[in-house]
Amino acid sequence: MYDLALVNAAELVTCNGSGKAEEDRLGVIRDGAFVVDDGRVVWVGTTKELSRKAFGKARRTIDARDNLVTPGFVDPHTHLVFAGSREDELERKVRGESYTSILASGGGILRTMRDTRRASAARIAQESMERLTQLVKNGVTTIEIKTGYGQRLADEMKLLDVISRLSRMSGVELVPTFLGLHATPSEFKSSKEYVDYAIREMLPAVARAKARPIFSDCFCEEGVFSRDECSKYLRASRELGLACKIHADEFSESGGASLAAEARCVSADHLGKSDPSGIQAMASRGVTAVLLPGTSLISGIGYANAPEILAAGCSVALGTDLSPNSWVESPQFVMSLACGGMRMTPAQSLLGFTRNAAQAIARDDLGFLGIGSAGDFVIHSLPGYRFLPYRVGGQYVQKVFRGGREVFSSMEG
Ligand SMILES: [Zn+2]
Repeated sequence: MYDLALVNAAELVTCNGSGKAEEDRLGVIRDGAFVVDDGRVVWVGTTKELSRKAFGKARRTIDARDNLVTPGFVDPHTHLVFAGSREDELERKVRGESYTSILASGGGILRTMRDTRRASAARIAQESMERLTQLVKNGVTTIEIKTGYGQRLADEMKLLDVISRLSRMSGVELVPTFLGLHATPSEFKSSKEYVDYAIREMLPAVARAKARPIFSDCFCEEGVFSRDECSKYLRASRELGLACKIHADEFSESGGASLAAEARCVSADHLGKSDPSGIQAMASRGVTAVLLPGTSLISGIGYANAPEILAAGCSVALGTDLSPNSWVESPQFVMSLACGGMRMTPAQSLLGFTRNAAQAIARDDLGFLGIGSAGDFVIHSLPGYRFLPYRVGGQYVQKVFRGGREVFSSMEG
């Protein structure tokens, strides 16, 4: 007796194929089947092969006839824990005001920081849970979540606690990241003064906390935090045993990509304006590039140069960057942008939300379906993976499973 068998998938994309070409790495199996027991995949093949196996009976058998089945999506970059919203800033952006100018006027991150500091943990958890549920409905089974709207110890701790609460409330896996350098709060005279505070007061306390994060992150950008400031901060993070991530070169070339390589970051994210030598350095150190085309779209800035980053040999992941600035909830929509806006192929875009996204959060058991992987998968009412980026704006997720347990079904209610 085992927990679950899925059979008859029109197209089972395991993201566990071998070969150099992305299409080969997808590992597409027609009439696909797999078996999950105790939360893990124990067998993968065709339905015909499964009928010849002597596995015994499954507690639950799912017939995925006519449907596409993929691994559960991994969203490696979100800021979904915050209070309030900033929908009215959209008009300012439309009129041509830049992200940094909105920030300089006390809007943007600074405004969300004020709202988030004022809100109770319970209220933030409630507001965030609604956003998290949207991601799950869109096929996401693992979500990286950054803090960063506290920027003082008590409030950053509050956000880490909210992430732990959400972990208990939701049926999916959450990966907490401490975003210590996001924006300098108004009570500090300079970014330098704030960076000193973050390194001296916040990092050690966060690293000792019960709700200890997995990653430490910073926003390396002209006019936000300099390369030197980020370098100091990442070094201090590493010394406390925290793995590192970086927001790099989103609006201007700020030396973020080369710093990611130097500081041995697991991922460098955004990379809209990175120079080729920085990208080359990332590739040689195995830093995963996380591209966020939804943010480029809503902020009205250029897309990252995905073909160049791929050609350099970087592993490319995609994320929603769900935040009060870019409230993007659909990986499928981001895949459309990746193909249409950044010239990535459908295969590259799907690997971006599965295998490569798992790499961006340093997990080798997620983002694929193979023996020993997590039993996280999505059944889509689509005939094949190319339809994911091809059909824009619809909702085709039928069922979502994490560890072999159903966490969402579109058939309910
Ligand atoms: Zn971000």
